[in-house]
Amino acid sequence: MISERCVASDAPLILQRLHLDWLQQAAVDVVVLRLDLVDPELSGNKWFKLVNHLDAARRAGAPGLISLGGPHSNHLHALAAAGHRFGFATVGLLRGHEQDTPTVADLQAWGMQIHWLGYGGFRARNLPGFWQPWQQRHRGYYCIPEGGGGLPGALGCAELVPRLPSALAAVGWDDYDAVWLAAGTGTTLAGLVIGEAGRHPVIGALAGPPSHAVDDHVAVLLAQAGVANEGYELLDASRGGFARFDKELAQFMYTAERDGGVPLDPIYTAKTMMALRLYVERGYVAAGTRVLFVHTGGLQGRRAAESQLHKLIHG
Ligand SMILES: *Cc1c(COP(=O)(O)O)cnc(C)c1O
Repeated sequence: MISERCVASDAPLILQRLHLDWLQQAAVDVVVLRLDLVDPELSGNKWFKLVNHLDAARRAGAPGLISLGGPHSNHLHALAAAGHRFGFATVGLLRGHEQDTPTVADLQAWGMQIHWLGYGGFRARNLPGFWQPWQQRHRGYYCIPEGGGGLPGALGCAELVPRLPSALAAVGWDDYDAVWLAAGTGTTLAGLVIGEAGRHPVIGALAGPPSHAVDDHVAVLLAQAGVANEGYELLDASRGGFARFDKELAQFMYTAERDGGVPLDPIYTAKTMMALRLYVERGYVAAGTRVLFVHTGGLQGRRAAESQLHKLIHG
């Protein structure tokens, strides 16, 4: 029985100073908001994106939750963990054909019921009528949009902003000048823009190829929240495509985590930090700037990529 609000994300926020050569040389200060450490299972931004959905499901008396994603999905991983912890059954609609990945093994261990949709079936997810057969099959289940998105997802992330000042005191900062984070759908970014209410600019490093889809999605979320479509910037950090890895990326990731002491994932956080380095080296970030770098998690998804990354470096 679910009897109380799901608030495990109230765990204290952990911030960490980042010391790397290229930051020191440009006199740019970075503190990393370690959302990857917020919980051992419900890691990263996905936990904050889920919290309002879980609450809505509880209020609706839903026996379970349904959502969709790929076989390495950080979202489904957090959802399955949350369902297991808070007493919801979970159903995952997965892209592609049956395969074993570390993520899928965890989903199954947490009791998620998995349906493989193939590629065509997954592409149909935005067509009208897509959910109907699944809702018939799993009556009363609460459907969560891909990636935990929508306004409830964004508002869960907005709640992070008022918690920052007290957390920053632990690293001796009384304020920051800009927020940087990875953007997939842009839901997390929209949430931070809502929470910031114009106080600090939010820079979103796109993990996928630049297209208007993310701009549009952010604009819709901000309109739904009743705030102006401003206070943020999106830049292309995708290096040729979503989840495309290259040697330079792999080298950057392992070097940055060895020298900076922060583990990164190759799809989101490493690409974001590479984009930050490019901006710093080009002189786009003024000396003395205090950057709050949001580590959005994603480390569980990295497990399946490790051998490919090693091969890129060592041949
Ligand atoms: C899902 C994810 C993102 C993207 O979040 P959006 O809200 O879709 O922009 C960024 N980083 C990590 C590690 C993620 O898992």
